[in-house]
Amino acid sequence: MDHFSDHIPLLRPWIDDDEIAEVVAVLKSGWVSQGTKVQQFEEQIARIFGAPHVVATNSATSALHLGLQVSGLQRGRKVLVPAHTCMATVNALLMAGGEPVFVDIDRRTFNIDPAAAEAAITDDVWGVLAVHQIGLPVDLQAFERLAARRNLQLVEDAATAFGAKYEGKFIGGHGNPVAFSLHPRKMITTGEGGLLVLWNDEAAERARRLRSAGASISDLVRHGAKGVLQQDYPEPGYNYRLTDLQAAVGLAQMRKFPQMLAQRTEQARWYDEHLAAIPGVCPPYVPAGCEPAYTSYCVTLPGASEQQITNLLKLLAVRGISCRRGIQPLYREPYFAPAYPDMYLPETEAVSRETIFLPIFPGLTREQQRRVVEGLTAAVEQVFGCRAVEAPVHG
Ligand SMILES: *Cc1c(COP(=O)(O)O)cnc(C)c1O
Repeated sequence: MDHFSDHIPLLRPWIDDDEIAEVVAVLKSGWVSQGTKVQQFEEQIARIFGAPHVVATNSATSALHLGLQVSGLQRGRKVLVPAHTCMATVNALLMAGGEPVFVDIDRRTFNIDPAAAEAAITDDVWGVLAVHQIGLPVDLQAFERLAARRNLQLVEDAATAFGAKYEGKFIGGHGNPVAFSLHPRKMITTGEGGLLVLWNDEAAERARRLRSAGASISDLVRHGAKGVLQQDYPEPGYNYRLTDLQAAVGLAQMRKFPQMLAQRTEQARWYDEHLAAIPGVCPPYVPAGCEPAYTSYCVTLPGASEQQITNLLKLLAVRGISCRRGIQPLYREPYFAPAYPDMYLPETEAVSRETIFLPIFPGLTREQQRRVVEGLTAAVEQVFGCRAVEAPVHG
């Protein structure tokens, strides 16, 4: 922690001497690209999820791209996806040749709504790219049932949900292809990086090949064979490799992971409790059976306008508190807007307009949390006046 600044950032990764020592050891070893550290990291993640295959990549975008490709997405097929997500989700989908079909979310969970998804199914829909948004699991059972009933592929974007649990089991352990991000904004970080969890042996072998130029054997295997083995290329691939330098950081992060998860959960509980006293501010909703990974903490101000949120963020910034406005609907982005001039998903729009992210990260102190709550209380009073905003949606 930086004790000399009274600025409270929105987020900050937890990196200390453990990561530094790991990186130094890899640098001294002489093997810095994808090697044994990546393998070790993959095996550890596979163990905690109880999954047969984990393929580490250089981002969640590349993990999702591989996940969609090895699950059989063909060019021109449609995929149901929320518009309440970051561009990277849909970038991966486009890279894999798919076409997004934007589906509305559930206003309470901020996640893709199973009923809206079902209503959007047409003959050319291949699957669902379900995003566990803001660390909260989607209604997996509903989507698994829907996928089985309507013969759809289910792929999970769990970029923000590393450590989240659904029905007592980690997201990543439910049998579908799942991608995680290791960007500093997420639960654990390797600077940049991603993880792809797969359950099918052939799909995993193909993902490993595609990750590394399409080569039939990895550098590590070839090295072990003293150059006797020669790779071939069954199909063209990419360079989506994580380096051993990054995986070493990942191994150190995994030692902190239980503490990171516990700290964030504790901080979220404290916010939940203390925000309840501010009229018109709703803490995040958590459905039964879900344990979120609080990679971020998002509150709703029901009925707030875009301008009011802007004013609120400015008042918080003056107090040295960094917050951020909610996720903007993807169909408004300049790339999509011309193709979707009339699109308006009401729940997505409302959540986008009425939400803000508050600081949450390992090392955020109780005192800082108190300042956030005080700052928010004052800002809400100033922006909305004494008459609080509309009745909360969360009951
Ligand atoms: C961060 C994020 C991504 C992209 O992760 P990268 O590792 O930066 O590629 C994808 N989807 C969601 C929901 C995210 O939050």
